[in-house]
Amino acid sequence: MPTTSTPSTPDRPRRPVVVAVDGPSGSGKSSVSRAVARRLGLAFLDTGAMYRALTWWCLQQGVDLDDAEAVAAVCRTLPLEMGTDPDATTVAVGGTDVAAAIRTTEISSQVSRVATNLDVRAQLRERQRDLIHGAPNGCVAEGRDLTTVVVPDADVRLLLTASEQARLERRARELHGDAGEAAVEATRDQVVRRDRDDSTVSQFTEAADGVLTVDSSSLTLDEVVQLVLDLVAERTGLAPAAGGAS
Ligand code: C5P
Repeated sequence: MPTTSTPSTPDRPRRPVVVAVDGPSGSGKSSVSRAVARRLGLAFLDTGAMYRALTWWCLQQGVDLDDAEAVAAVCRTLPLEMGTDPDATTVAVGGTDVAAAIRTTEISSQVSRVATNLDVRAQLRERQRDLIHGAPNGCVAEGRDLTTVVVPDADVRLLLTASEQARLERRARELHGDAGEAAVEATRDQVVRRDRDDSTVSQFTEAADGVLTVDSSSLTLDEVVQLVLDLVAERTGLAPAAGGAS
């Protein structure tokens, strides 16, 4: 019986697909990107974790974060290993699992000092490109500058946005388990101040040419994931395997 060749059952190896997702804190970049990667069988790269890991390592070594040259020198030899399986992402520095240690409030409040170091940015971008292009099936990569500087040639480029209130409430739920007024205020520094500092060196609030903006303020995670999957299918022909996990 003749069979038709569909995008999800190619008869020859597909070229790797790269999806780049940018956006401010709390826009849902990580959750959306991880879910899309999982559904499509692609690698997942959380580039923020790389800046966080460098910040953690500098603090461990007693390096002054305002000493730009010292931080850049530490970055050159940073023994960072990123595991990009979306079901089991790992972040290790010098063989130590730092996945939890890099999520503390201390790291969140210090990371912009490292991420605004231009030498560091140039170095970590190169590492990001190596990881993204080294993924055999392709990669969903998220973080500031991804759509514009790191992989401007990605197959799909998205700017994920949400209103400030929606972003504050999401982060408050993640960090404090609720989105009451006190929790939202306790989160403000990590969302608003950090984005203000970060925006001095990276663009993530306005979409560049060819970058599609998705406002997730009134969408559920599943709705945003579906929207991105539809876009990837339309642009590249890659679709989730039938019966795949959501
Ligand atoms: O996304 P996440 O909150 O983990 O990012 C942590 C920090 O890393 C950001 O606040 C920003 O300072 C920096 N970052 C960056 N460029 C990226 C990803 C993250 O400057 N591509």
